[in-house]
Amino acid sequence: MPLEIVRNDITKMTVDAIVNAANESLLGGGGVDGAIHYAAGLELLAECKTLGGCKTGKAKITGGYQLPAKYVIHTVGPIYKDGKQGEKALLESCYRESLALAKAHNCETVAFPLISSGVYGYPKDQALKVAIDIISDFLLENEMKVYIVIFDKAAYKISEKLFSDIAEYIDDNYVDEHTDYHRESMRMNMPTQASIGMFEANLCECKAMIPEEDLDAKLKQIDESFSQMLLRKIDEKGMTDAECYKKANIDRKLFSKIRSDVHYKPSKPTAIAFAISLELSLDETEDMLKKAGFALSHSNKFDIIIEYFISKGNYNIFEINEALFAFDQSLLGA
Ligand code: ADP
Repeated sequence: MPLEIVRNDITKMTVDAIVNAANESLLGGGGVDGAIHYAAGLELLAECKTLGGCKTGKAKITGGYQLPAKYVIHTVGPIYKDGKQGEKALLESCYRESLALAKAHNCETVAFPLISSGVYGYPKDQALKVAIDIISDFLLENEMKVYIVIFDKAAYKISEKLFSDIAEYIDDNYVDEHTDYHRESMRMNMPTQASIGMFEANLCECKAMIPEEDLDAKLKQIDESFSQMLLRKIDEKGMTDAECYKKANIDRKLFSKIRSDVHYKPSKPTAIAFAISLELSLDETEDMLKKAGFALSHSNKFDIIIEYFISKGNYNIFEINEALFAFDQSLLGA
């Protein structure tokens, strides 16, 4: 997954660069800044002293010293007052400038804390949205693996409205796992002799109604593999391969594997990520999942959350991942 949200201490991340939410002096402070300086050692402070500070919205890079990361990118987030002082543009600039510096230093992996969301007071749900928007825009044009590191669960919040809407949707749709589905479906679907006769008659009638070429096409689709269906849908939607896998938050290597192996069986989150990227309807999503041997179920919160977003026509994979993360579910993508 090119963009991943993880719960961790950023000083423990083994990546090419970690980003520091610094202040304009660059001489250390509290919060994540203090933790980074503490873990990197005094040499980091010595290098920072040579930099002459940094303006809000800008970024500067140093070595990582005792950290597992090769570099530290120091960026200065805005202090949040009321949201009307240009805070959002400055925060966006922090992410853009940091990503540009990481790119200029050939970093392949970068980890960000939620800049400005601590002492600087930026509302956490909005700070997360800015991070996701800017990073995902960048990833549409660039190959990089980016982590948003959430320090503690309490520090993480999607908007209350979205959270409660999803919670309500889960409540309305969640089916107790103890329901015996097999028996239930046997009972509901048990064919009688009369119903078999009717089914056969209907089938003949349907066949007669469908033009031969359409029927051929439908039959071909039944034999289609996951990979074939994916490539067909990409063509039908007029997307390029890269547009599709990037929007699915899937990396290029995995996509190439799926493309070249007609019988490739993806994991369920990967299959769903493609369905989201292609903006498939619920029925089409079910079809695509079936090709990979999966189904959406109402006894599984992950599936219900996916269904919630598809039914609302919201196909933003990063927002879906935010919600999955908030509900402690695994994320979409590779
Ligand atoms: P700012 O001054 O930009 O608000 P803070 O350091 O106060 O910076 O907080 C920024 C975010 O970093 C907060 O969400 C805080 O929970 C988080 N944070 C603090 N320590 C760490 C850490 N060790 N790793 C990752 N995130 C951290």
